[in-house]
Amino acid sequence: MINTEKIEHLIKELLEALGEDPQRPELRETPKRVAKMYKEICSGLEEPPTNLIKVFKEKKIKCNLESEIIEINDIPVYSICEHHLLPFFGKANIKYIPENENIMGLSKFARVVDYFSKKPQVQERLTAEIATFLYDNLHPISVQVTLECSHLCMMMRGSRAHGSITKTTFTCKSPKMEIQEEKEEAKN
Ligand SMILES: [Zn+2]
Repeated sequence: MINTEKIEHLIKELLEALGEDPQRPELRETPKRVAKMYKEICSGLEEPPTNLIKVFKEKKIKCNLESEIIEINDIPVYSICEHHLLPFFGKANIKYIPENENIMGLSKFARVVDYFSKKPQVQERLTAEIATFLYDNLHPISVQVTLECSHLCMMMRGSRAHGSITKTTFTCKSPKMEIQEEKEEAKN
């Protein structure tokens, strides 16, 4: 449970520690606003993802693995790096091969990305959490999640690596996919 009163109090103290005057008219509402903001951008620490996913059974004709690939690209990502509590943001691309005609409504992917983004994170773990959650709930033959993000902690401070983008990829594969790949490798 996010304690907004405590955040408010701590932000007041932070402003004081920075040498600011929290009673300055322009700053008076800031602790309250920051507390409200953290409740929103860290909501991934609160709600359980149980009803996050709804898998739709779709009647489809059986076809070969290649033609079954579903890609959802450019899903917005907004998260906070847990080392500096500064935002990192960019986009997620998800690629999966459904198993047993299990597919998911497209908008649900954005909700899954959003849920796992909204807490202090590192990009690598965020990528893995999204992929693993989709794998465990959708039971696809394979799922691959790629995140491309800019980190404000790299842009505003430290190395000032302007314009640099961090790319992370995480893949989960069912044993069926591994067998398929082994077969293809054997052919070559
Ligand atoms: Zn950072």
